[in-house]
Amino acid sequence: MSYGYTGNILHLDLSSKKHWIENPAENFYRTYWGGRALALYYMLNQMKPHTDPLSPDNLLIFAPSVITGVSAPAIPRYTVCAKSPLTGGQGEAEAGGWWGPELKKAGFDAIIIRGSSSTPVYLYIKDGKIEIKDATHLWGKDTGETQRIIKEELTDDKIRIAQIGPAGENLVRFANIVNELKHFNGRNGLGAVMGSKKLKAIAVRGTKPIELYNKERVSQITKEITKRVMDNPLSRDLREIGTPGVVRPSYEAGCLPSYNWTTGYFKEGENLTAETYNKTILKGTKGCYACPIRCKRVVEINEPGLKVDPAYGGPEYESIVSLGSLCGISDLKYIAKANELCNKYTMDTISAGMVIAFAMQCYQEGLLSKKDTGGIELTFGNKEAVLKMIEKIVHREGLGDLLSQGSYLASQKIGQGSEKFIYQVKGQEIPMHDPRLKTGVGLQYALSDYGADHMKAAHDPFFKDKDSVGIKEMKGLGILEPVSPTDMGQKKVTLFKLLDIYWTVFDILGVCDFGYVPRSVGTMEELLEIIRSTTGWRTTWFELMKLGERSINMARTYNYREGFTSQDDTLPEIFYHNFKSGPLDGQGAIDKKDFEKALRLRYELMGWNADTGIPTTAKLIELGLDWLIDEVSR
Ligand code: SF4
Repeated sequence: MSYGYTGNILHLDLSSKKHWIENPAENFYRTYWGGRALALYYMLNQMKPHTDPLSPDNLLIFAPSVITGVSAPAIPRYTVCAKSPLTGGQGEAEAGGWWGPELKKAGFDAIIIRGSSSTPVYLYIKDGKIEIKDATHLWGKDTGETQRIIKEELTDDKIRIAQIGPAGENLVRFANIVNELKHFNGRNGLGAVMGSKKLKAIAVRGTKPIELYNKERVSQITKEITKRVMDNPLSRDLREIGTPGVVRPSYEAGCLPSYNWTTGYFKEGENLTAETYNKTILKGTKGCYACPIRCKRVVEINEPGLKVDPAYGGPEYESIVSLGSLCGISDLKYIAKANELCNKYTMDTISAGMVIAFAMQCYQEGLLSKKDTGGIELTFGNKEAVLKMIEKIVHREGLGDLLSQGSYLASQKIGQGSEKFIYQVKGQEIPMHDPRLKTGVGLQYALSDYGADHMKAAHDPFFKDKDSVGIKEMKGLGILEPVSPTDMGQKKVTLFKLLDIYWTVFDILGVCDFGYVPRSVGTMEELLEIIRSTTGWRTTWFELMKLGERSINMARTYNYREGFTSQDDTLPEIFYHNFKSGPLDGQGAIDKKDFEKALRLRYELMGWNADTGIPTTAKLIELGLDWLIDEVSR
């Protein structure tokens, strides 16, 4: 008897329209557990090296985990993996919402999709039954319209739909995938992979409850966490001010990314704070499956010419900054509109804001002209221009076609030194957290296999002094001593090795980072107990940390196979220089030598070759990955 997982993995070939179901043994599940670990197993075993990410040979994998679907706080997430068209390496993105739990209830632990349909289709899964349906009438439609039509034609309002909008169809390299219109597999361009397969949507409906080993214990822990949610400042703030709460400290400190990263000082920052947001555009908050925290923003604007539909949620911190201060915009209503457009077209807001801000700087420096922009005055602060550029990128018109390739490829085409104005790691645009004030986040940007990402580990301030949540609550991992957010020494490297693995476990299991320590109210012990009570496995944090490490080594090996080297573990040059203007003027530069030393130490701590960063055979053997030894010995 299996608990937590269904034992069924669905394989689908869209070229032949055939499907089959695999039933792996328990040991397979206990080795890979789901999410990125399970996906990487198939990517390494069933995909040829150097596959074109937009070809039928790329595998597109939807993977919840062995605990997805348990009715416990903040465990709603699932992973999508494929070779990324943005980075050319391992692509991955997690989303909350309801789709992952629904897939489990419909009878599957994962879907592995290969091939490509000649005409648009969508997949309908209901309680174990599979149907490939025509989607010609849905192609070109935005996500709201698509969801409405699918629910109507399947005459079931309870269906959960993961889908792409026109950005995915048009192969924008940073298109994403959305479920329930506002929960995104946000980065790495996985929506373009779905578009390349002509797969518009996956509609799922499941009515079978997931078998739990100890349902009573799960519900007891759920009650205990839920009771604390409104009293604990971390989870209360998540609901009351949400991620926009990060704007004020960043702008007051002078590290709010602005004007394409040329400064951290944005003098109109007050207009972007959570307090302004709540007073002006917030309609309410919503949550994900079984989560009492309800931190997701919902925005409504009813002004003529500037309507924003609450169905698409509202901008989170990253989007406020990438579509706001980064482009010199301080009008939250326009930012909310830009966010809504990205959402209904399924385009990552971080990369969208970054490519537009990059183009604005090119325009300011005379590298692009009005002729290139199609008559748009592409100056910082021009809010109408941002909305127009989003349309152009999604529909790949004029300059939008170039920007749809991401800032790295766009700068190669523009040339003229424009590469100075892009900020990316492994081809993915960096998120809105300045690593000069959070060096651990900087290390994670550099080391992340799927390019710069702010959700690769908990952030430095949670470990800054003895009263910090990370120090008080994570002693079980051996985290005993605080480390300054700007430190780049051995203690920081050791801490972030652990944090990288810890949050990787969250990603594999579909646990939301906002639900458990150090970011929120659930403890490590409670999470472990939920996992045990769901699966019946007497697991430990030791086993879970090895699982996280296993998947990191698989991703590292995958990227090595695709041609990545230690030269790709890097940070944009700007972070080795001081801030210009504002409270931090003349300060903050990361010492490049310290950073390089830190990277080398991190390689060694991971059991990788100190020079090349390639996993050693001993490390692969330790993690049960001896089947990868040939890959690293080549
Ligand atoms: S904390 Fe917020 S994002 Fe995370 S699962 Fe709960 S509602 Fe969703």
